[in-house]
Amino acid sequence: MTMLQIENLTARHGLLEAVRGVSLSIRKGETVALVGANGAGKTTLMRTLAGAHSVTSGHIRIAGEDVTALPSHQRVRRGIALVPEGRRMFTSMTVRENLELGAMAGRSGTWTVDRVLEIFPNLVKRIHSKTGHLSGGEQQATAIGRALMSNPDILLLDELSLGLSPLVVDRVYASLEGLITSGTTILLVEQDLSRAMGVADRVVCMLEGKVVLEGDAKTLTRDAVTEAYFGLD
Ligand code: ATP
Repeated sequence: MTMLQIENLTARHGLLEAVRGVSLSIRKGETVALVGANGAGKTTLMRTLAGAHSVTSGHIRIAGEDVTALPSHQRVRRGIALVPEGRRMFTSMTVRENLELGAMAGRSGTWTVDRVLEIFPNLVKRIHSKTGHLSGGEQQATAIGRALMSNPDILLLDELSLGLSPLVVDRVYASLEGLITSGTTILLVEQDLSRAMGVADRVVCMLEGKVVLEGDAKTLTRDAVTEAYFGLD
């Protein structure tokens, strides 16, 4: 079953076309890694899917339903949740309040604060701390937890690794494994090519707003992805 369908999507920043005619289809339960150099348009695509950036043309469908015209909060109710680049926490709110906010914005389902704490045990002792006082890794865990509390079918993760130590990144990725096996559909932006190819079923490479390479993570070679990444022929 196709969970997320992106059809000929274009999005602009003023005159600049940051996303130029992107088409992509993601099956239920699939993990897709979006790679590409800085400025390739990955963040703009993620924000456009979540409804945080407007579409110039094209369509976005969630489980067959066209959501292109829906505002972001209604897309959350259709099962799509974004963990934005830089985490964007409400820093004066506690971890628990952030998680509860995620639940309020979302739809009913099986995610609870306790379940989030099971996959992110490092948050247990921080549950009443204001997120502004947390480490980068704890903030990232809170941001992912907040998204999960909306009970998404599709999780959009933009640069989870940004600003985190390799050890913490390992921990954050390890905590995603359970989600992946439980059938959540994941689209993630990852700068580290090895990590992207290790975690994903499929790798999609963007260059100057377009998809220039797409393939199975197991069969694509690192060289092919690197060439696409830099636009080499
Ligand atoms: P990064 O890895 O740096 O986040 P990216 O692949 O996510 O890069 P985008 O952030 O989507 O790329 O940027 C795509 C293009 O749009 C770039 O040329 C960028 O300079 C431009 N851009 C991004 N945000 C804005 C903005 N708010 N206003 C104007 N131009 C922008």
